[in-house]
Amino acid sequence: MFDGLTAKECLLRGVRLVGPSALSPPAVTLEPHHALLDIAFHDFQRNGASVDVVHHALDDPSPLLLSEERAVPGRAAFSRVWERNRLAHMVSLAPATAEGGAHGVPCHEVAPRIAVVPGDGVGREVVPEGIKVIRALGLSFDFEELPWGCEHYERTGRMMPEYALSTLAGYDAIYLGAIGWPTVPDHISLWECLLPIRKTFEQYVNLRPVRLLPGIRCPLAGRGPADIDMLFVRENTEGEYSGTGGRVHVGTEAELAVEVPVFTRRAIERCARYAFGRAQERSGRLVSVTKSNASRCSYVLWDEVVGGVARDYPEVQVERVHVDAMAARMVLRPDTIDVVVASNLFADILTDLGAALQGSLGLAASGNLSLGGAGPSMFEPVHGSAPDIAGQGRANPVGAVWAGALMLRHLGYDAEAGRVEHAIETVCAEGRVLTGDLGGTATTAEVGDALVGALR
Ligand code: ATP
Repeated sequence: MFDGLTAKECLLRGVRLVGPSALSPPAVTLEPHHALLDIAFHDFQRNGASVDVVHHALDDPSPLLLSEERAVPGRAAFSRVWERNRLAHMVSLAPATAEGGAHGVPCHEVAPRIAVVPGDGVGREVVPEGIKVIRALGLSFDFEELPWGCEHYERTGRMMPEYALSTLAGYDAIYLGAIGWPTVPDHISLWECLLPIRKTFEQYVNLRPVRLLPGIRCPLAGRGPADIDMLFVRENTEGEYSGTGGRVHVGTEAELAVEVPVFTRRAIERCARYAFGRAQERSGRLVSVTKSNASRCSYVLWDEVVGGVARDYPEVQVERVHVDAMAARMVLRPDTIDVVVASNLFADILTDLGAALQGSLGLAASGNLSLGGAGPSMFEPVHGSAPDIAGQGRANPVGAVWAGALMLRHLGYDAEAGRVEHAIETVCAEGRVLTGDLGGTATTAEVGDALVGALR
């Protein structure tokens, strides 16, 4: 993708330069932003070219962005990666030649860096299978494991180190297993690990495909894969999980707890826009889940904002459905549902129902998308650490592998994501190598191997 780009163009695009040659030391050992500029400065000086550009960049702390128009056709997602995480991706800078000088230096793309947080329980069993499948595609992604989670908490009193968020900020994506263990209260494991990541990097969309795969038995009588193919877009930063609230008179009879839902126009709108975009690509149908009959403020705002965004997408047919009716509809008429946009709480509950419709929680995958440039996105199976089956090699790895496919697509590897999804469909349709939750006897690793074998 970067063949033919000069060092100057790379610098202008805010791409981190890594020099394999004596020209520049590897940037990976240095802080990204200044390392980029230092190395580029060094290279430009050595080649006697464009020092002004570098000075300008050094003086200007604001990031340099790759604009949408310069995105490469067919790899459009990359422009979003640059905007979001512009200094984390690497290209290598070949030694300057007598003919080329700094302006003629060709650069080429190298592997995305993925922060792997296997976490707790079965998270540690399913994530290696996802990595196995991605490696089998022939992609040389750079996976770096970060041993955070409840065991880390028990050793250190923290779910992840103090510097964790700035470390994660340097990666192209985060691949997560599961966080939580019975020895650590859920509110600690959630509020000191997953939620700070989602909030800091403004992973404002939680994307959840709900698809019944061929070969998998649906708990709804008479329903097959053609009936269950939904895409949930969950607002992921606020609502009932905003964290606003407190307790007073703790431990007394007068104890009081207040938890305040927070709904902002900005968060609803950006999430709705994403959902409308996805609906436009798919069937042109969108359900907006609400409860504006009983809730007099927050869901009224929700409806108003979704209604406003709808005016920009006249070709998308929007339906407003109350959350209770939506739960019933998912069971009674799932075939009428395509893209769904819902608040943090409502989508949390409805997508667990969705996982049940898929035939097993072990099949469900999700992506926490940071679409505005605040940091990397995070991809994870929907299930938790499953202490009841952890350590026994019985966990279904399909949800984690599918989350890997969502990550590939997000990073611009559409064809590879399609190959992984096709392998998942094949293994499920054949039904020979399945874990216990789907009625099979295979181990986690055996399913991983079968998925690798089914890659086209
Ligand atoms: P959390 O609150 O972290 O979401 P949870 O306690 O609600 O977790 P899980 O840990 O996901 O739920 O487990 C719920 C049930 O689903 C358990 O019986 C568990 O064994 C089963 N389960 C979860 N993940 C898998 C998997 N990958 N394969 C097979 N069964 C699974």
